[in-house]
Amino acid sequence: MTKDLAAWGKERGVRYFMIGYTDLFGGQRAKLVPLQAIAMMQEDGAGFAGFASWLDLTPAHPDLFAVPDADAVMQLPWKPEVAWVPADLLLDEAPLAQSPRQVLKAQVEKAAALGLRVKTGVEAEFFLVSADGAEIADGQDKADKPCYDQQALMRRFDVISAICDGMLELGWGPYQNDHEDANGQFEMNWDFDDALVTADRHSFFKFMVKSQAEAAGLRATFMPKPFAGLTGNGCHIHVSVWDLAGEVNAFADPAAEFGLSEQGRWFLGGIMKHAAGLTALTNPTVNSYKRINAPATHSGATWAPNTITWSGNNRTHMVRVPGPGRFELRLADGATNPYLLQAAVIAAGLDGIATKADPGAHCDFDMYAEPQKAEGAQRLPLNLLDALRAFEADETLQGALGEAFSTAYLKLKRQEWQSYVSAFTTWERDWTLDV
Ligand code: ADP
Ligand code: MG
Ligand code: MG
Ligand code: MG
Ligand code: MG
Repeated sequence: MTKDLAAWGKERGVRYFMIGYTDLFGGQRAKLVPLQAIAMMQEDGAGFAGFASWLDLTPAHPDLFAVPDADAVMQLPWKPEVAWVPADLLLDEAPLAQSPRQVLKAQVEKAAALGLRVKTGVEAEFFLVSADGAEIADGQDKADKPCYDQQALMRRFDVISAICDGMLELGWGPYQNDHEDANGQFEMNWDFDDALVTADRHSFFKFMVKSQAEAAGLRATFMPKPFAGLTGNGCHIHVSVWDLAGEVNAFADPAAEFGLSEQGRWFLGGIMKHAAGLTALTNPTVNSYKRINAPATHSGATWAPNTITWSGNNRTHMVRVPGPGRFELRLADGATNPYLLQAAVIAAGLDGIATKADPGAHCDFDMYAEPQKAEGAQRLPLNLLDALRAFEADETLQGALGEAFSTAYLKLKRQEWQSYVSAFTTWERDWTLDV
């Protein structure tokens, strides 16, 4: 039975609900609704003018209604009088097909129709920077190889432990926190779960990290490459597929290579086949392309892929099989939309299963040191426009994600690209003034 938000909130001392949705660019939009009004909102939804966020709608469209998915509600650990609840968007009483959470729910349903349940975990890296965003917040965090730096991690104990305590309270099963490979960069890990659950948690994690950073007078950024020369913010996704009961991992086969079953290989084959188009969703900003395809960073490696290759337990390739029964896609970055990331992976993977796609030979060499060994492998798109064109050319992936979504996404992202190319930069003056 669906949760009664009014009763649930009253019991827990919740005074306000944030009814939130995520737009096509990953922006989180919300209305703050007092407990007294939540029963009505749970029924009818909260009204929004869709055009005012990044959705392909006009100012003339009727109101969108954001109907809370009550079972996904989360009380803010740092402000328990408020609860956040992700919503599904309705337009003219029908689900808005282009809305990211709806796009993901459609993929989850497609998988379920095949008797499959996709479970994922994400690693949403972030930097703690100054409030104005200009520099790394910790002036002492300057090591050449800062990964796992004990001292720098402990200087941020108050922020990191507040976030981890929040995850413990919410029951996500957090299990480790560390200083990552760039100065000022951190990663916090919690247990994998159903794709939709992970997407909601991923959204809430970003909200929680930003809020705790702000409370400490800092700022958190998930920007793919906030500092030239430093490792960027990845958002690796680990994927396995289970039976509907969630008991049998269909990707696990102890007898198979890397412990990855035939179905797992097909799913992976779909990821390999659609990788170029997928990049438009996993790496959705202009800045994303400064993280992938990048030269080595000060720490020695970017830890990001440049080519569509896969491997066993080797972090220099786009896909890694770290252990039996799952794989890790290392492509996505911190700008990826939490819902579209999951949706894109499932859409590509299900096509892989449907077509028994062969992922090709795995690469067992150091891709950073010996890229020539990947002879014949396709490079990842070099910029956002290439990625959008690859997505546009991938009719199968577009079709799987739905025409309404694909059309809307391409339209708005092309506008973003247009805005970028029409911006004058100091770089072009530097290179062109004296021609
Ligand atoms: P690494 O940094 O080595 O890539 P992390 O420990 O940082 O790995 O993150 C691993 C993520 O993968 C976690 O979210 C974890 O819960 C998730 N994970 C582990 N096993 C599976 C699985 N079978 N299916 C999906 N996700 C998994
Ligand atoms: Mg108004
Ligand atoms: Mg990790
Ligand atoms: Mg990491
Ligand atoms: Mg990883």
